[in-house]
Amino acid sequence: MSINQSESQEALQPTGCEPLSCASLPQASTQGLHFQTESISHLLLHIAQRLNSTFEVDTLLDRLIQDAKSLIGAESGCAGLYTPQGMVCHCYFQGDHVLPLEYCWPPNHGLPGWLIVHKVPYLTNDTLSDQQIVQELCLQFGIRSALSTPILDAQGDLLGFFELHNKQDNTDFTPSDQETLLALSHLASIALSNALGFQNLHEANHSLHAEIAERQKALLHSAAIVESSDDAILSKDLEGIITSWNAAAERMYGYTAQEIVGQPVTLLFMPDRQNEFMQIMARIQQGERIDHYQTIRVRKDGTSLNVSVTISPIKDSTGTVIGASAIARDITEHRQLESKFRQLFDSNLIGIFVSDFTGTFLDANNAFLDLLGYTRAELVVGAMKRDALTPPELHHLSQNALKAMQEVGSSDPYEKEYLHKSGKRIPVLVAVARIEQTETCIGFVLDISERKELDKRKDEFISMASHELKTPVTSLKGFLSLLERRLTTQGNQQELYFLTRINAQVNKLTKLINDLLDLSKMQTGQLAYREERFEMDALVQEIAENVQATTQTHHLQLEGQTQAEVFGDRDRIGQVLINLLNNAIKYSPEADTLLICVTKDQNKILVSVQDFGIGIAKEHQQKIFDRFYQVTDPEEKTYPGLGIGLYISCEIVKRHGGQMWVESKKGQGATFHFTLPLSA
Ligand code: ADP
Repeated sequence: MSINQSESQEALQPTGCEPLSCASLPQASTQGLHFQTESISHLLLHIAQRLNSTFEVDTLLDRLIQDAKSLIGAESGCAGLYTPQGMVCHCYFQGDHVLPLEYCWPPNHGLPGWLIVHKVPYLTNDTLSDQQIVQELCLQFGIRSALSTPILDAQGDLLGFFELHNKQDNTDFTPSDQETLLALSHLASIALSNALGFQNLHEANHSLHAEIAERQKALLHSAAIVESSDDAILSKDLEGIITSWNAAAERMYGYTAQEIVGQPVTLLFMPDRQNEFMQIMARIQQGERIDHYQTIRVRKDGTSLNVSVTISPIKDSTGTVIGASAIARDITEHRQLESKFRQLFDSNLIGIFVSDFTGTFLDANNAFLDLLGYTRAELVVGAMKRDALTPPELHHLSQNALKAMQEVGSSDPYEKEYLHKSGKRIPVLVAVARIEQTETCIGFVLDISERKELDKRKDEFISMASHELKTPVTSLKGFLSLLERRLTTQGNQQELYFLTRINAQVNKLTKLINDLLDLSKMQTGQLAYREERFEMDALVQEIAENVQATTQTHHLQLEGQTQAEVFGDRDRIGQVLINLLNNAIKYSPEADTLLICVTKDQNKILVSVQDFGIGIAKEHQQKIFDRFYQVTDPEEKTYPGLGIGLYISCEIVKRHGGQMWVESKKGQGATFHFTLPLSA
């Protein structure tokens, strides 16, 4: 309820509307009562015409206050509308000017507030001592006397008010003025009711237009969605006559909207599926919606397509079903894929299962069930659980695969064993992949029992062959050293030279046989390790000297000292070092230097053997530690060997609690590292 003083003083401006001429007003003191009454009636009629000529509420109130001022001969005044908060006014008319006045009189506050409660005019000619009038406003506008009149509608409800201040001739407002204003308020009432009615109508019309525009927008939006959809969307009436057809429907079925709208939807049905229409419509008429109904439809060119259709009833405003809308998706490709997958699933080539992440098998093909000796009935009741079907010591493999699926969506193929229902272990190769964003996965299982059996037989053969070879080679070595002694005594230099060559070859053969023996012992866990404390520096020095003695092409450079002891099998660690150095010589035929470096930190010793030879490409660096793995490169010459030296070396190092790895680039030499824990 504040008065905007600064604005009210600055914004003094002429009124926009033409007031009733004061000259036309009869003077009560000089004219007869009859004449006066007639003139006032005449003026009131004139005012009524002016008021009724506008439907603008604000203009009407402006005119009302201007005309009332002229009619009564007042200096100033204001008018306003009744609202739930009180009487609200926007401007104040003073002389020929209009001042902004944003004011609200709640019930009982000021004269307009009094009108809200009493609904009859209020007259005061001594505002200074009148407690009802707002003194603040009196000071602001110099109000000495006031006459406030309510505007009531035909039912006696408040519409608004108008109020005049200060007679121009400084006289008091009289009861006759009050009477005149009351008459004017009746006229204003009719005009204001009309204007308010019109305003309401206008507003309702406006919001109706806004709603229509909004709905049209939504409709256009929906239409755009329908048009741009990849699914065919069509509507039909209860008789099945197509009423709308989108672009995707045109693409899918081959008919343009022009061709098909007005045609029966059964045109799209296969001849042997015509009765589907009756069945669908019977359900639609019940108000039912049909979800993802899979069927076959026919295109304009006669070819068929697999579709998944969702059909919903279309209802009018009363809820009566008047038709149906159908959204169809072409699932032909999906079906083809499904059937290909089914073929794979049903094939006996590979075991396939679907399981959840907790390890319950949800589905599986017969190959998988047969492999593990279970029936489909047992699968269905959830009797097949991954963990129960896996030996406990291999559970970690399943956990690793699960982790890989969660992180990258699938696992690399890995070897494990399943437990057959009979308890027998079945070696398998497994790969699992997560099914989209679900907590389920699909697994592919290959029975590798036969391969494992062959591997076993190969290992047995290697073991047997190396044992069988060891005895004759040992006696060969014995006879050679006997021969060597004899020839030395005889001083037969030429034959001694041949004997040295034979000896070197027999040594190579012995190493091969020893490697094979080690390998087969490792396979069966029978490789024995001595346990002793030994000095690492001395061992490295010794091996370096020994290997240096065997080569004229390479110079071995030893760097670093550890002054540390290792607990383990000295000969086996020496074997690792020899193997790395021999490889370094073998695979760097163009180079002449090898580096051996030993260092240690708080817990371990690090031994590195570096060469400047052919190097190893990244993709082979992991695999060279596998049994029988050799890098084969068609561009390079082949090197003799069996591909087991690194496997044995790595196993020995692991057995001692260390690690082995390689750093290399193809063509740029290789550095093999291994660590050993320091002896406590
Ligand atoms: P091999 O008897 O074949 O040398 P290893 O197990 O010792 O068997 O080595 C496996 C393979 O690793 C070798 O065939 C070779 O391709 C590669 N390799 C080993 N050491 C080196 C090296 N120093 N430089 C390049 N390639 C190497």
